[in-house]
Amino acid sequence: MIYDFLVIGGGLAGIGAAAKLSSLGSILILEMEEALGYHASGRSAAMFEENYGPAAVCALSRASAEHHRSNGCLSPRGFMLVGGPQNAEIFAQDMQALALEPITAEEARAKVPILHPEHVTMAGWHEEAQDLDADLLLQGFAKSARANGAEIVTRKTASAISRNGSSWEVTVGDQVFEARQLVNAAGAWADQIAALAGVAPIGLQPKRRSMARLPAPGGHDVTSWPMIMGAGETWYAKPDAGKLLVSPAEADPVEPHDAYADDMVLAEGLARYEENVTEPVTRVESNWAGLRSFAPDGCLVLGPDPNCPEFIWSAGQGGYGVQTSPAAAQLVADLVAGRSPELDQADVAALTPARLR
Ligand SMILES: Cc1cc2nc3c(=O)[nH]c(=O)nc-3n(C[C@H](O)[C@H](O)[C@H](O)COP(=O)(O)OP(=O)(O)OC[C@H]3O[C@@H](n4cnc5c(N)ncnc54)[C@H](O)[C@@H]3O)c2cc1C
Repeated sequence: MIYDFLVIGGGLAGIGAAAKLSSLGSILILEMEEALGYHASGRSAAMFEENYGPAAVCALSRASAEHHRSNGCLSPRGFMLVGGPQNAEIFAQDMQALALEPITAEEARAKVPILHPEHVTMAGWHEEAQDLDADLLLQGFAKSARANGAEIVTRKTASAISRNGSSWEVTVGDQVFEARQLVNAAGAWADQIAALAGVAPIGLQPKRRSMARLPAPGGHDVTSWPMIMGAGETWYAKPDAGKLLVSPAEADPVEPHDAYADDMVLAEGLARYEENVTEPVTRVESNWAGLRSFAPDGCLVLGPDPNCPEFIWSAGQGGYGVQTSPAAAQLVADLVAGRSPELDQADVAALTPARLR
């Protein structure tokens, strides 16, 4: 059988694209791990903050909001930026970039009582930031794709790709799958997939980001605390099922791999968090890391490659791939189907692979 589409990658990019493309033709999705969402898609902070990222990313996030809402993926959280005399300049830049409303340090402490009175003297607020249920989102995409006849197979690593006439041949072990169009949604591995297919890479850089899960600080009930970010994105913290997640917010360039937290990076990040709070870190219950993969200009790369239109990119999701996934998938499908996208032309131009050629 020759599929119309073969998607490489079973994260939010691949399964999201499959949900949309499955109404246009037959489709096979290959995921090398045992579970969908095993890499970046299952390791995120799961936030929806529509003012986070470059303009075209914000446009994708705004265009995704209705999908998240109507599928029950959002719940109230709120976002707070904190700063003090030591980082006043970068705090002011973040306030503007994230379009935050200034609140007093007392108002900030009323929301998060452990904020340090001397080190946190300034705060910004965005009430509309939400928690995003990434697993519900992924399962919803998979359900839509399967309902349209998509075949999703796990533990299948695409190891060779070649062109045979007007179709692609993708080798997985001793099997070969054929498809007319190839969708590259391989996350941190997307440039490696391009190289296998003989398509020029886009200069993707995977960057590690770690997370530590701490017991609720000082025994506080953290359930209603917002996400808190240190000015300059030097750390952030977020409640999670009665515990507190703290990230050093590092963006360390690495090769694609099954990421894990670096002890020193974690310790330094926890120290930056501790400077801003009155409760010490007593214990780290667990930790993990994931890869956020960026194109050179930091925007997603969505749509057919200009030099090889049968090779479709859904890559470079960076730190926004959860919140942008519905609109990113829609844009990919619109471009493949030759439909006029709902996004502004300028945003489409900022996301096209052609900008990197
Ligand atoms: C700590 C952290 C916090 C984050 N916080 C947020 C947040 O709050 N909000 C937000 O929107 N985003 C956030 N992100 C970013 C978000 O997680 C990613 O942008 C998104 O998950 C990327 O999805 P993806 O499908 O492109 O990649 P992935 O989920 O990594 O999926 C790619 C898949 O391709 C598969 N694959 C690769 N090569 C092959 C092959 N040869 N054959 C078969 N399969 C292959 C991999 O196994 C993988 O499952 C965060 C990321 C991290 C690490």
